Parts: sequence; structure tokens; C-alpha cells
Amino acid sequence: MKNCPKCGQPRQGEEYKCPSCDVFYSQLDELLYEDQEKRERNTFKGALKRIRAAEDRKQALKAELATAWRNTPLKTKIVIWTVIAFVFVLVVPIF
Ligand SMILES: [Zn+2]
Repeated sequence: MKNCPKCGQPRQGEEYKCPSCDVFYSQLDELLYEDQEKRERNTFKGALKRIRAAEDRKQALKAELATAWRNTPLKTKIVIWTVIAFVFVLVVPIF
């Protein structure tokens, strides 16, 4: 669809929604938009975007880190823990 179904304004660029009424131009655009959102959800860029948009940024950052940790494969977690333990063992005797 080339025009907004609500106000009839012509579509601008690659926007999925009409900027003035927040209505999707067509059902296909809605699907494409959701698909894009879904893909963005799993990226660092998407996480940053959500943190910036959140009212409580500290809380949002915590939630994002918790999600990232949950999605981290066990192997990677073991590597991270090993590195932390190694650094700890190296650094602690100095103090
Ligand atoms: Zn409109």
C-alpha cells in the first residue's frame, strides 16, 4: 500500500508505519516490522536501543545482561568463569 489507510498520507521511504498515526501501511508491512523487531531483539544494537528507550535504564541494563547470560552457551560460560578464576588467583596474592 502506498498511502496510509487512516489519513491517506503518502508513504515515506521504507517506513512500515505512518509517522503521524502509527498505523501500518499494510499487513505485509506489519509482518516485516515484527520480523525486524524479532531479529533486532537478539542483537547488541537492539539491546542498546531498548536500554536507551527504557525509563529505568539501570534496571533495563540489568535485565538485558540477565537475558544475555541466559542465552550464553554453557561452554562460553565455563570459559568466562575460568578466565575470572584465573585472574582472581593471579591478582589476590598481590594484595
Ligand atoms: Zn496516517
